[in-house]
Amino acid sequence: MWFRRDLRIDDNPAWSAATSECSKVVALFVLDPRLLNAAGPFRRRQLLANVVALDEELRERTGAGLTIREGNPAEVVPAVVAEVASDALFFNVDVSPFSTRRDGLVVAGLPSDVEPRRFYGTLVHPPGVVLTKNGALSKVFTPFWRAWTATPLVPWPAPGPAEIVALASTVSVSLDADPPMVPGSAGALARLEEFVTHADRYGDERDRPGIRGTSMLSADLKYGTLSPRTALDVVGESTPGRAAWCRQLAWRDWYAHLLAEYPMLEREPMSERYRDVDWADDPEALEAWKQGLTGYPLVDAGMRELAATGWMHNRVRMVTASFLVKDLLIDWRLGEAHFRHLLIDGDTPQNVGNWQWSAGTGPDAAPYHRIMNPVLQSRKFDTDGDYIRKWVPELAGLQARDVHAPWELAPLDLATAGVTLGDTYPWPIVDHFEARQKFMTAFRLE
Ligand SMILES: Cc1cc2nc3c(=O)[nH]c(=O)nc-3n(C[C@H](O)[C@H](O)[C@H](O)COP(=O)(O)OP(=O)(O)OC[C@H]3O[C@@H](n4cnc5c(N)ncnc54)[C@H](O)[C@@H]3O)c2cc1C
Repeated sequence: MWFRRDLRIDDNPAWSAATSECSKVVALFVLDPRLLNAAGPFRRRQLLANVVALDEELRERTGAGLTIREGNPAEVVPAVVAEVASDALFFNVDVSPFSTRRDGLVVAGLPSDVEPRRFYGTLVHPPGVVLTKNGALSKVFTPFWRAWTATPLVPWPAPGPAEIVALASTVSVSLDADPPMVPGSAGALARLEEFVTHADRYGDERDRPGIRGTSMLSADLKYGTLSPRTALDVVGESTPGRAAWCRQLAWRDWYAHLLAEYPMLEREPMSERYRDVDWADDPEALEAWKQGLTGYPLVDAGMRELAATGWMHNRVRMVTASFLVKDLLIDWRLGEAHFRHLLIDGDTPQNVGNWQWSAGTGPDAAPYHRIMNPVLQSRKFDTDGDYIRKWVPELAGLQARDVHAPWELAPLDLATAGVTLGDTYPWPIVDHFEARQKFMTAFRLE
């Protein structure tokens, strides 16, 4: 069994099949330097700690742990299969173009009598089964969601009694990773339990970055320390807040199904219309955005939270993404790459899907002319300014009503709060209303 982004034992269809159908199973994880190097510091540490946690859990429950190897899976996996003369290879499939190519190479490298056994353990429903009445994947979310809720869920079986065989692990990188979050299934289940205590309030609290109103389970879903089906089952839909949360898992499936069906979405817009946008070549503005020095406090708070923790609240991800694309007119792919590198939950289908949504270029995206006003968003969702004060401490002396747009204050009021624009905190790098006009012209391509 080759583990990848399904780092758990329970509710794992490939693991259940392997341990039920075979008498002996090797639990293999391959550290692929390409993936490790592409992951920023937060995701890298969390991944390594999740691998160690899976190893420990396996030892506790079966007496034998993971076999960890390092290198290109296209070489390492067939070599391990040959080492134990296995007659099958079990794994849970992923949808990104990278993983599809990699898996194709791994399978091509297997001896002809070794059967590749593919499962889908990372989504609630696999691509290809959530179809609307015309028998197709919907390019609009709501019909997809209706079909998703109506698609039967056949439960995944429990693991079987196979003997686990651990081979020698050969790893050069340190696995002592100091993860940002408690790792493994135990950490994921604790976060799920914590979320359940306020899941009923999710509808009211999910958009407020200053409080912990969401589940913070995306990294667990990314690495599979939590099964999305277990999450769905535990949270349930008994209240509007819980139902709203389950709907988010449908978004997650939808973006994965879309990428599986249209791999070009990783780099290209859905509609030809947006292929020729004249994006700004402005490295200075891009850098100011990355550093959290745009002069728009909510944008800066979000970008600094990302840089410091590998995390950013969903509402603020939307605001910062909109700002990069629509205020700075910078290509969404540059923002997507920056987020994917730093986010602890950085995940190609979800990141690409949401960036294309924010840019207005993807399926069922925010219309290009709907441009988020970073100040109104700030006043509405961080009303008391707590989130901004936490991440932009140089504005901490400003009162709630003033902290969202410091340039609107008189210099004396700013000075009283210890703020000097252009010195302690930047002036806005663009005027939102002028930028809006520029963007509308650039995107009105007809
Ligand atoms: C520009 C941008 C980039 C993003 N990049 C990623 C990414 O790389 N990886 C990632 O997992 N999510 C991404 N998201 C979606 C979303 O921001 C995170 O999933 C969410 O903030 C995670 O926090 P949570 O677990 O507390 O979410 P909750 O609100 O508790 O939601 C529960 C789960 O539903 C899923 N979910 C929630 N919102 C979305 C959404 N908009 N799209 C798809 N699934 C969703 C996630 O798996 C999440 O864990 C991005 C959003 C934006 C706007």
